[in-house]
Amino acid sequence: MSNKTIKEALKEASLVLKSPKEASILLRYLLKFDQVELILKENEKLEHYEEFKKLIQRRKNNEPIEYITNSVSFYSKEFFIKEGALIPRPETEILIDKSVEILKDIDSSKVAEIGTGSGVIPVMLALLVDNISITATDISRDAIEIAKINAEKFGVSNKIEFVETNYLDGIYDKFDMIISNPPYIADGYELEKHLSLEPQNALFGGEKGDEILKEIIDIWYEKETPSLLCEMGYDQKESLGLYISKKSDIEVEFYKDLAGFDRGFICRRV
Ligand code: GLN
Repeated sequence: MSNKTIKEALKEASLVLKSPKEASILLRYLLKFDQVELILKENEKLEHYEEFKKLIQRRKNNEPIEYITNSVSFYSKEFFIKEGALIPRPETEILIDKSVEILKDIDSSKVAEIGTGSGVIPVMLALLVDNISITATDISRDAIEIAKINAEKFGVSNKIEFVETNYLDGIYDKFDMIISNPPYIADGYELEKHLSLEPQNALFGGEKGDEILKEIIDIWYEKETPSLLCEMGYDQKESLGLYISKKSDIEVEFYKDLAGFDRGFICRRV
């Protein structure tokens, strides 16, 4: 046990991380305290000082705070996360809203998701849309395990079938919609250091980055599914627009993220 009080340990950690907010998140995670409890007990001795220092060191070494605390906020909910699945990003909430808009008009909808990662997309759809059944795939067994934990956590396991497969290989059902936030970064693109612990096969989508998206467009087209919703890279509108325009009887609408960057598209059969 150290002689430091909670307040002193927090101050020290804030300086190391250059972030009082992160120091506080990590200490609250360690002590299982909420913000109020932390303030009320700030003059008490910190019994777990050594453990706290270890967490601070992990964060200092660029490990994402979400992996350290096994928690990520998405669509105002706390999802379980750990190394092995991509940390869901706020822009993916737009993909959820766009798909809910279409699905609310369909009774008993069937949706397929390619590349479920932590499972935030099927879990949110199951929570927001009545009478829905979702088949969610991923090539990573670790990701599927994390996604199943989230489906269980939010009580929607009965609405989602998780399948360990590539794209929709081996799945022959008919769907109303295919949805995906696939890897779309160009191979070799130099990522910031903090992204290095995330699964690289969840980030990189091929030489140009849009290859997996094109494959998904082909799969969707051949399956004659009514709609396709995908997230994409900010610079892929032109190449994907051209690719889609070569197929007959479909219309496409691109959407932007909150920062104003092109971020995804919706394809429909007409
Ligand atoms: N569907 C998950 C998400 O949107 C995982 C995506 C991925 O791994 N590329 O967060």
